[in-house]
Amino acid sequence: MGQTLTEKILEDHLVEGDLETGEEIGIEIDQVLTQDTTGTMVWLQFEAMGLDEVQTEIAAQYCDHQTYQFDFKNTDDHRFLRSAAGTYGAHFSRPGNGICHNVHRENFAAPGKTLLGSDSHTPTPGGLGELAIGAGGIDVTVAMGGAPYYIEMPEVVNVRLEGELPDWATAKDVILELLRRLTVKGGVGKILEYTGPGVETLTAPERMTITNMGTELGATSSIFPTDEQTEDYLERVGRGGEYVPLQPDDDAEYDDEIVVDLSDLEPLIAQPSMPDKVVPVSEVAGTDVDQVIVGSCTNGAYEDVLPAAKMLEGREVNKKTEMIVAPGSKQASELLARQGWVAEMMAAGVNFSEATCGACIGIGHVPASNSVSLRTFNRNFEGRSGIEDDNVYLCSPEVAAAAALKGEIIDPRDLSDELGDLEAPGFELAEEYNASKADLITPDEAVDDELVKGPNIGEVPLREGIDEDIEGEVLLKMDDNITTDHIIPATQDILMYRSNIDKLSEFTLSRVDETFADRAAEADGGVLLAGENYGQGSSREHAAMCPMHLGVEAVLAQSFARIHRANLFNFGIVPLVIDEDAYDGIDQGDEVEIVEDVETGVSEGRSEFTVTVNGDEEYTATLDASQRERDILAAGGKLSWTKAQAQSGS
Ligand code: SF4
Repeated sequence: MGQTLTEKILEDHLVEGDLETGEEIGIEIDQVLTQDTTGTMVWLQFEAMGLDEVQTEIAAQYCDHQTYQFDFKNTDDHRFLRSAAGTYGAHFSRPGNGICHNVHRENFAAPGKTLLGSDSHTPTPGGLGELAIGAGGIDVTVAMGGAPYYIEMPEVVNVRLEGELPDWATAKDVILELLRRLTVKGGVGKILEYTGPGVETLTAPERMTITNMGTELGATSSIFPTDEQTEDYLERVGRGGEYVPLQPDDDAEYDDEIVVDLSDLEPLIAQPSMPDKVVPVSEVAGTDVDQVIVGSCTNGAYEDVLPAAKMLEGREVNKKTEMIVAPGSKQASELLARQGWVAEMMAAGVNFSEATCGACIGIGHVPASNSVSLRTFNRNFEGRSGIEDDNVYLCSPEVAAAAALKGEIIDPRDLSDELGDLEAPGFELAEEYNASKADLITPDEAVDDELVKGPNIGEVPLREGIDEDIEGEVLLKMDDNITTDHIIPATQDILMYRSNIDKLSEFTLSRVDETFADRAAEADGGVLLAGENYGQGSSREHAAMCPMHLGVEAVLAQSFARIHRANLFNFGIVPLVIDEDAYDGIDQGDEVEIVEDVETGVSEGRSEFTVTVNGDEEYTATLDASQRERDILAAGGKLSWTKAQAQSGS
């Protein structure tokens, strides 16, 4: 039987296990990336493990999420990150140089390599044939130290593309169509591998918009084969020598198949406040728009901004709408500036902004109360924009520019008819991506050789392993699809404490219940209860670290998002799966006792627990975990486990 492309790359990197779906495998990691919100803990953990030097081929530290300097805390963090990169041998991308995924794809991503990143949109370079996976910071730390990354072998799904995109339909619409069909849970436990004749019609940057937003499907990763488009892109970014032809075998067998005919696609839009609430743009046409933003790691590249710039050329943004363009990298800004597009956009009324995540996580350009904001981003979870009563829509740069011109949502095809002289801008790569690399400091150019820790840099929190039954109060009952933004909001006033867990913990789950952190601290522990898909969203390990710091010992949920589930193990919190009856039967404030059923034992990684509620009612909860994950829990988390392993020499 032939192999899928995913299997080929995994086999090349396999150090433990077999490529059987659901089995735990260990793989070698070639490249790692981390960003400023997760990076400080990555390096503090690297230091705490006593490691001397980065062991992967490439390690890159980006400063992208929080680049605006409000006070010393953020600059303290950035100075610490630069010193850590210099001390341990990583590349350092200065604040303002761009979003990690954009800068990484421009400079390092390469076909056939493995990439592990402490950011959930790490799969972006899958569009270049790199197998890229998002993970918690400590997983990245350990991989950076040269150890394998462990993961359950995902299902591999064939997403077969046919036909060719018509005018005004874009790569963004391909992934929005998949979200419409599969929902935000549709990719959980899966790698989406794109095949079919439609692949060659998409350029590498278009492919990377699709792989970037595979994360919103919950997918472990997404990947395209490589071909002339890949080679062409790598040559234009000056790395043609890194091209490797990669295809699945003709007789490869997939776990599932989805067919998307690109010719059938039309401009789509995700409505507030979930990326899968997708409808044709025409269905919401006429909605007044207060704000439009083009940017982010999904649609912030040079090639993404260019179509919007072309549509704005010689026209003006509607007086009732504010338009912001924040490219994904300084390289994109520099190319657009050299070609005169920045001036064109400014003349049209655009507020041209720094290359940063910023608005995507509510840092800057927060929408007005109860207003409508159209963004080319990948997420529109309620409150993520920085204000609770937001109405954020997700769309392509073309749909965003059309709305900016009209002042309301409009299908760009209708705007084209209305204006008479508005052509579909198409998709165009730069001849040469020859921007400056002044903001990327290589390990050879390092300016620090020891860690610099200002007062905002705290300690890595540790906990003892849980060696007794779990007893305590159900501190909070939550609905389905609780995101890591709910658990630890990423807004400026909170995120600045990312390196100070004691302080950051005070904001734990404050978006769900403002009293949570105080109640948890007072109760000295307890458990959390949630519905489906608990912990979806970012890779933010603070969303496990802070509950651990407050003493949370277990989360009972109907299902968990992949990265957050791994983070719970990594911080010694037991992720237990319950059914709907148990979810309905347990309430906030109940006292629970959770006892592992030793008689039934562990079978194929599964073991059962009895949850006794208020000394009376009983439900069953399941722990699905490998022996390695059980050992990590027993040690109190991955940091303690890794140190113990190093001490025992195993
Ligand atoms: Fe930055 Fe938003 Fe992309 Fe995350 S999703 S890396 S916050 S732009």
